[in-house]
Amino acid sequence: MADCDLCGVSLPTLNPVKVLVERFASAYPKGMWTGLCDDCLKNAHEVYGNMSTLSGSNGECDLCGTTTELYPVGIEIPSFSKGVDPTVVQLCKGCLEASSKAQIRKANEPKSEHH
Ligand SMILES: [Zn+2]
Ligand SMILES: [Zn+2]
Repeated sequence: MADCDLCGVSLPTLNPVKVLVERFASAYPKGMWTGLCDDCLKNAHEVYGNMSTLSGSNGECDLCGTTTELYPVGIEIPSFSKGVDPTVVQLCKGCLEASSKAQIRKANEPKSEHH
């Protein structure tokens, strides 16, 4: 099991998304793998597609920790009392782009079913 790096949901498999984490850039100059669940990945992908219509705000990215221009992504955090707890995370362009690429790669993947 692994936990989604955005909403924290535990799933057997997550979608690998490579992001450049500024504070680990010396150790991981090519970026680090984070894991996003299907919903978070899809939401980030949609925000990336609409980015030109959104106005970013400055802050610290919730995924890679870079202080830069951020865009809001609506996600749902699993909650024991409410089922899901909708919230908004702030992601930088780099993380949105990486998520979008991962989503497109996933969509183009031939369906591999294990029997
Ligand atoms: Zn998630
Ligand atoms: Zn980021």
